[in-house]
Amino acid sequence: METIPAVNRPGATPAPAEASAVIRVEDAHKYYELGETRVHALRGVSIEIQSGEFVAIMGASGSGKSTFMNILGCLDRLSSGRYSLEGIDVSEHDKKALALIRNQKIGFVFQGFNLLARTTALENTELPTLYAKIDKTERRKRAADALTMVGLADRAQHFPSQMSGGQQQRVAIARALVNRPSILLADEPTGNLDSRTSVEIMEIFQHLNDKGLTIVLVTHELDIAQFAKRVLVFRDGKIRKNDPVVNRPRASEVLKTLPTLED
Ligand code: ADP
Ligand code: MG
Repeated sequence: METIPAVNRPGATPAPAEASAVIRVEDAHKYYELGETRVHALRGVSIEIQSGEFVAIMGASGSGKSTFMNILGCLDRLSSGRYSLEGIDVSEHDKKALALIRNQKIGFVFQGFNLLARTTALENTELPTLYAKIDKTERRKRAADALTMVGLADRAQHFPSQMSGGQQQRVAIARALVNRPSILLADEPTGNLDSRTSVEIMEIFQHLNDKGLTIVLVTHELDIAQFAKRVLVFRDGKIRKNDPVVNRPRASEVLKTLPTLED
């Protein structure tokens, strides 16, 4: 089984025209050198992700999920193998070139919301546009639009301390969307949230995905992974499972069955 590339396995989403692959990873290896020891974090990962997919990544702690996300997000480089993002081979890009691609094409959401404390929701959302060559009015407008997309138009002037965890994560999602990325990468975005709030975040993800955004999400929770269209399971730096989700639930429907805080 290990010798067959994951994308060609029966049961995997059939790969249509190669041109529509947003992400194409071939035989990816990543080593970390720690003094005398060498950690082999990715051990031959091959995968294609098409435009409009919603992929969840699961696997035990230390299985290589975050390492893989950092590669996809152009935060780090492979030790060997190839990575093409929207048809561009970025394997040989240096840090500066990666940073440029990252700012244009990738939106990140993390477990900790990483918002600036003394900064309003609107200003937090606007931050990534400071590097783009657009004027102040347009930046403000894009930030306001992104906040509207996550349902927080009425919280634009709130500071992080005045918002719930779920609201803060929605600001972080707005910030990730503000430069209109090709991919949204989320590493355990619901890890600090209660179960209802987690499903609310999945509702936003499904909505964004319905509108065409490609999403890759790392989660520990099977319930959360089921909202994606496909689930990859990592073990010891390899993809061990690659299965479409059957009977995928709609987060908006699941929410109707969950108690609200007031209940
Ligand atoms: P996961 O996100 O699935 O928990 P990681 O990708 O963080 O796994 O880690 C995979 C392996 O690589 C682990 O053994 C981890 O200790 C190691 N690792 C991750 N990041 C680093 C780093 N910056 N330096 C050294 N080792 C690392
Ligand atoms: Mg991790």
